Order: sequence, then C-alpha cells, then structure tokens
Amino acid sequence: MTQTEDKTISSTGDTPLVPMEKIVSLSKRRGFVFPNSEIYGGVSGIYDFGPLGVELRNNIRRYWWWSMVQINDNVVGIEGNIITHPRVWEASGHVENFVDQLVECKNCKRRFRIDQLPAENLEQNKCPVCGGELSEPRLFNLMMETYIGVVEGERVKTYLRGEACQNIYLDYENVLKSSRMQIPFGICQIGKAFRNEVTPGNFLFRQREFEQWDLQFFVHPSEMEKWFDYWKERRFEWYKSIINHKDRLRLRPHDPDELAHYAKKAFDIEYRTVLGWQEWEGIHWRQDWDLSRHSLYSGHDLSYTDPETKERYIPWIVETSGGVDRTFLNLLLDAYEEEPPSGKDKEGRTVLRLHPWFAPVKVAVLPLQKNKEELVTTAQDIHNRLKRLMVSQYDDVANIGRRYRRQDEIGTPFCVTVDFQTLEDQTVTVRERDGMSQIRLQINELPAYLLERVTWNYS
Ligand code: ATP
Repeated sequence: MTQTEDKTISSTGDTPLVPMEKIVSLSKRRGFVFPNSEIYGGVSGIYDFGPLGVELRNNIRRYWWWSMVQINDNVVGIEGNIITHPRVWEASGHVENFVDQLVECKNCKRRFRIDQLPAENLEQNKCPVCGGELSEPRLFNLMMETYIGVVEGERVKTYLRGEACQNIYLDYENVLKSSRMQIPFGICQIGKAFRNEVTPGNFLFRQREFEQWDLQFFVHPSEMEKWFDYWKERRFEWYKSIINHKDRLRLRPHDPDELAHYAKKAFDIEYRTVLGWQEWEGIHWRQDWDLSRHSLYSGHDLSYTDPETKERYIPWIVETSGGVDRTFLNLLLDAYEEEPPSGKDKEGRTVLRLHPWFAPVKVAVLPLQKNKEELVTTAQDIHNRLKRLMVSQYDDVANIGRRYRRQDEIGTPFCVTVDFQTLEDQTVTVRERDGMSQIRLQINELPAYLLERVTWNYS
C-alpha cells in the first residue's frame, strides 16, 4: 500500500445516515447535478453535472487515475470508444444474457426487478407497495441499440457499450506490443457505459448513462490467487482512504450462486447508505473467459508467449470495476453533515466534509466589507494569483458569516478573509472548514500553505 492510500480523513463520529433528498436538493441548488433535459420533463435515470459537479468528478477521476496508473509501473491506461464492432457484444455474452427479469403490478402498474423483490412477495406473487397481483416475469435486454451508417437498409446495428471494460480486451494486444509490457501487467480505463436499466432510480445510484472505472490485470494462471488478493486489498484500502465513515464500508464475498461459471470467487466493496449495503465496486475472477471468447469470435488468437520460457497461454484476468457516479454519490452522502448551532456558529450550518483534494473549490477569497475599495482590490488581487494554482472563488456578497456558510455547504476547505489589518501588515485570516479555526498568514505565504493542504501527499 502506498503512503498516500494510508492518508485518511478524520472520522466525524457516529452521525445518522443522510436522507437522499438532502443530497438531491443540495446538488441542484448549488450546481452539482441537474436532471437531464429538465425543461422537457427530464429523462429517467439520466443526469447532467453542473459547475461544481464537474470539478468534483474531475478530482475523483484524477485521484483514481493517479493511484491506479501513474504510480504503478506495471499498469497503463487507455481510452476506448463507446461504439465498437457489434460482434464484440455477441462474444461478451451481452446480446444473449445481459437481461433483467421484470414483473409489473397489475394494480398500481409499478415495475420490479425479480432479483430485487423481497422473497415473500415473490412467493406470494404480491406487489410490495400495494399488495396487488404481479404479472408473469418478462425478460428485458439492457443493451442500448444504435446504428452505424446513413443509407437506410445498409445501416449496421450495434450497441452503446453496456460495460466499459470490453475495450481493454480489444486493445490488449496493441497495448502489449506498443508499450512493451509483460505479464503480469494491467490496463485501466475510465469511460461511459449505457444500460436500459429497468428500474433506474435513487438519484445517481442506478442510471442509464453512467461512468465506470476498470482495471483488467493480466496474469499467469498460477499467479491468479496472489494477484486477486493483492488487488482486492488495495482497492478496499483505497475506498477506505476517501471516506470519513470507515464503519460504513465492507468487503462482501459473493455467495456461490452469485458467481459466474468461470469465477472461483468474487467480492463486492459495499458502502452503507439509506439504501442499505450496496455495491460500490466489484472485484472479479475472470479467468481466461474474455480473451478466449474474443479469440473465438474474432478468429484472432490472443494468447501470450512468455519471452523467457516460451510458454504459450491465454492470460487470466483480475478485474476491479467500480463507478465514478457511485463514488460521486457516496462521497456526498459520506461528507454531508448538518451541524446544530454552537459556540462557534450561532446559526448552525450544513457542511460537506470532503477531503480537500476532492473539494470542487479549494479556497474562497472574501473581503470583509464590500464597500471598502482597498479591501476589495486586495482580495481580488489574492484571488487572481491563487486561481492559477487551484480553484478559487471570489465572493463579496452578504455578511461574512453567510459567506462562510455558503462555502461550508459546498465543501470549500479554506476561506481567506481580507480585513483592515491586512491593509496595515499584509496578513490575512485563513479559516479552516471542519474545525472553523482561524490563523493569520502573510499573503505571500498563502500559495505554499494552501497547496500543501489541498493536494495528496505526492512524496
Ligand atoms: P448492480 O448489481 O448494482 O446492478 P452490477 O453488478 O451490474 O451492479 P457492474 O456491471 O459490475 O455492476 O459494474 C461495475 C460498477 O459500475 C458497479 O460497481 C457500479 O459502481 C457501477 N454501476 C453499474 N451499474 C450502474 C448504474 N446503472 N448506474 C450507476 N453506476 C452503475
């Protein structure tokens, strides 16, 4: 484990689980997440990310990429396309098997996935909401179809990728040749995936367009167990390092009936929210399934020759596959806190205790008063210098307490206040979000002070 992954944020104690509505409301109000095409009534399970949301997403992606690709000599990254050859999805089994079974209540018309229905409702064929009779199960394929070509009749049907990782198998040989990697090695990717989810919902948790991150790690079959355990532990520690509530994270082994036929074992990294324990990332034993299938369907042999022993074999794969959007959602649910009024803050406040690295805005620069020109110009000058180094916001609207609370609510770790003393001795107040403690610093000390605290320890 790296030094960085050891670095954790302090726990905030046993706070209650945050209702989803609080996060939905904050997200819309402060510009993290908007319903897609809202003026047309929206599209179920599809969202857009606003000015703060896009910063948070970029920070999440960047940290994953840094810890998976940049610091591992035996891992490289790719960016594959959303559209691929249609045969890819036949080889992967998605055309035939990527289905959910669905029942509909004949009374209230609600739809349920069979695998998510409580056992007693399934047995009694009873709707869990109104008690009405349920329909016969029907199969729904989750793949989204699209067409390549413009001439009617000559257009070829293909699919928007149902999972991002297929590109990694398709590019495996090109990566091997072009980057002179040798087994064991891994390929990472972050990218969009599309599923016609039967029951989208719970905000970002189950969407129809979402983003996944994958590592596919290629190994000799004799080393599968070792690498599986290695990545399982590393990924679990990674998730632990980014949350406050460590007790809400667990590793759950799959039951035998959940395992794919080629998998000796599998684990889900799960996080507990108001939705209960839910998957955040899956750690999968994929054996030689993917490369064998693509060899078979393409007619192109994807086996590997060991440069020293000359042994020829299809590499086995350890997969770690998680979601950018579930990370986004879980981080907000983990960080959100409503603090009652206290000695330090008479009105109480909402605070997002995000790690400073994830925080969309790193620093806010605030003149104490708006109507004092020297305060305003000094604050604007500081903001203009800081914004070249990190995301900085200048704000002079409303009293200073309100402005602090506005920043607390979006997780800004530091506020810099320019007051009358600044004009005399070139010092400013630096207020820290979590403890609301304040110190005075020279203006020219600010960049180093803040940079050290808003980035992971890269040493
Ligand atoms: P679930 O059991 O929740 O449907 P899954 O087992 O189908 O998930 P995978 O196919 O293993 O999920 O996808 C890997 C990751 O992608 C998941 O761990 C999750 O973080 C994310 N993910 C999957 N489906 C969705 C979705 N509809 N919306 C948002 N994120 C998703």
